[in-house]
Amino acid sequence: MWALRRWIQSTATVLSNAYVLFPFTRNIYQGKLKSVCVPGLNCYSCPAATGACPIGSLQTIFANVRPSFKTGNFHIGLYVLGLLRITGSLVGRMPCAWVCPFGFLQELIHKIPSRKIEIPHWMIYIKYWFLALFVVLLPLIVVDGFGYGTTWFCKYVCPAGTLEAGIPMLILQPQLRELAGWLYVNKIAILALFLVLMVFIRRPFCRIVCPLGAIYSLFNKVSVFRMVHHPDKCVMCKECYNGCPMGVKFYEGANQPDCIRCLKCMQESCKFDAISYEIAGLPVKVRPIAH
Ligand code: SF4
Ligand code: SF4
Repeated sequence: MWALRRWIQSTATVLSNAYVLFPFTRNIYQGKLKSVCVPGLNCYSCPAATGACPIGSLQTIFANVRPSFKTGNFHIGLYVLGLLRITGSLVGRMPCAWVCPFGFLQELIHKIPSRKIEIPHWMIYIKYWFLALFVVLLPLIVVDGFGYGTTWFCKYVCPAGTLEAGIPMLILQPQLRELAGWLYVNKIAILALFLVLMVFIRRPFCRIVCPLGAIYSLFNKVSVFRMVHHPDKCVMCKECYNGCPMGVKFYEGANQPDCIRCLKCMQESCKFDAISYEIAGLPVKVRPIAH
């Protein structure tokens, strides 16, 4: 299962960034696929990106809501909201574990040997503030004279955007370097901070900041796919927590907001068969891995 997940994560990362002509065009791909959102966090402005980022698209909806009211042009907004709702309703936060390139990067960097640190539990709620403030309220409220807002999370926070788009675009288009002022320095500092934190903390961006994870997490308890804990079999050995890439204490309850359904606890950590999953309320029999 672990090898399968790594293979799917790698494939999703490559497919989300498969525009190999960018070194020649020195620009981003702008073909038809770009109007489709990928399920993970992958910057629209990455020169190799083949799809759009749902969080970037969501901010654009709120930033353009006034002009959209005037023109009646709502279909893109409805499409993005519908996509997030369908994905969340089916699998909850599962895309974070299986197809998000930035989540994958955090797991790889966390493998660097070091003393590992756990964050206080309250910090996992900060991401909902990032979602409310930087993705919804600021793009909606702070507008120019024509009624257009801006994509606050992309512009001022997102380290994935800096890594995938900001740095590569400055390399491809040197003329942009003159325009990169304090905003760029700020974004590089945020990226550097998270790259360091990834070494010591399990998926720090996913757990503390990611607005996409925050949205998907709202569906974890009600999605078609759900994890199940069997207290009658659980001996509270806490191995599920020790092995969890998100630091979830599964023995305290299934389908917590930060469970990304990677299935590692079920397939590898728990030796007591105390974890399973169900689809639409129907238990799924999984062949246990020999321990
Ligand atoms: S690994 Fe299994 S037995 Fe141990 S605490 Fe977690 S659910 Fe319980
Ligand atoms: S609780 Fe289990 S399924 Fe959820 S993220 Fe942790 S290891 Fe993965």
